[in-house]
Amino acid sequence: MTPMPSLLPRPTILSIEPYVGGESKLPGVNRIVKLSSNEGAFGVPPAAKAAYAELAGELHRYPDGSAAPLRAALGARFKLDPAKIVCGNGSDEIIAHLILAFGGEGTELVMSAHGFVMYDIAGRYAGCQVIKVPEKNLTADVDAMLAAVGPRTRLMFLANPNNPTGSLLPAAEVARLRAGLREDVLLVLDSAYAEYVTRPDYDPGTALVEAGTNTVMTRTFSKVFGLGGVRLGWCYAPAHVVDVLNRVRGPFNVNAPAMAAGIAALAEPGWVEKSVAHNAEWRAKLSSALTAAGITVHPSEGNFILADFATAARAKAADAALKARGLIVRAMGAYSLPQCLRITVGTAEECTMVADTLAAFMQSAD
Ligand code: PMP
Repeated sequence: MTPMPSLLPRPTILSIEPYVGGESKLPGVNRIVKLSSNEGAFGVPPAAKAAYAELAGELHRYPDGSAAPLRAALGARFKLDPAKIVCGNGSDEIIAHLILAFGGEGTELVMSAHGFVMYDIAGRYAGCQVIKVPEKNLTADVDAMLAAVGPRTRLMFLANPNNPTGSLLPAAEVARLRAGLREDVLLVLDSAYAEYVTRPDYDPGTALVEAGTNTVMTRTFSKVFGLGGVRLGWCYAPAHVVDVLNRVRGPFNVNAPAMAAGIAALAEPGWVEKSVAHNAEWRAKLSSALTAAGITVHPSEGNFILADFATAARAKAADAALKARGLIVRAMGAYSLPQCLRITVGTAEECTMVADTLAAFMQSAD
């Protein structure tokens, strides 16, 4: 679209490709299975659904302006100081606010080559120079990330586990990353998939925040807590970063039904345990089935796997074969991985359908 020459946004804005979420419809197909956005496999926690509905009679009221009841519930659940928690309209909003507040024109933001795409988008709209650092085996390379830091670097982002690669940096490596950074560089550890991690050598970021370093941990209700639709995220941060975020965020950035649903989801008995056990079982089963079919699967600590078909043409054909059965997964062109498809771990039945479809596809493709 050509803008009016007299009304132009800041120069970097028009270089941004708008974020496109995972597809949720297929023309002419009634029964679809959506495995394109890493949503929880079990839908909405029942208590969250009830709490959301119950709020309908109170919708004329503004919500609590600082999301205090939700911060208190998060503090109790995760054993964190609620004063160091900030909630947002999805963790995407918190990511953007951190970048707007600490980055901007004349600064650099460092991320790994296949890091989560919102760091690049929000970095560019804030006017930062975004530096994408080459990875080793699709995993962030600590030495290369540190070498990429220059005098103008103010922010470094690491999704751990990373979306879309599923890769994880162990706690010692993340600590080494922080130790190698100047104090005036904010390290943002995006732990959107923290609950799904089964490796023991993991820290979602809590320890580094509590150690008094300039580190922020971001989390979300969109994955294991099954609440992607309400847009709810949060972060745990040093007091001076909390102060900055509270100046930048909108006064009522977490809406009342979202807050009620979030608090109820935290209290739903056994929800996380059930989801995490299911995910570990079916992530492994799906990975083995695809590997047996001749597809390369990258090790994942998230609720999704990255399937590598070696060529973009084959990935496209595999995507078409899945779509023909109503299975929607995520094509990876926007992540410079056109030879790959990212597949969310769904229910047992959904995973079996994906595995069977791709096994048949690989047989016919050979
Ligand atoms: N970080 C990562 C690594 C993600 O994959 C996502 C969701 N795609 C987000 C953040 C954003 O999550 P939210 O729904 O909380 O905005």
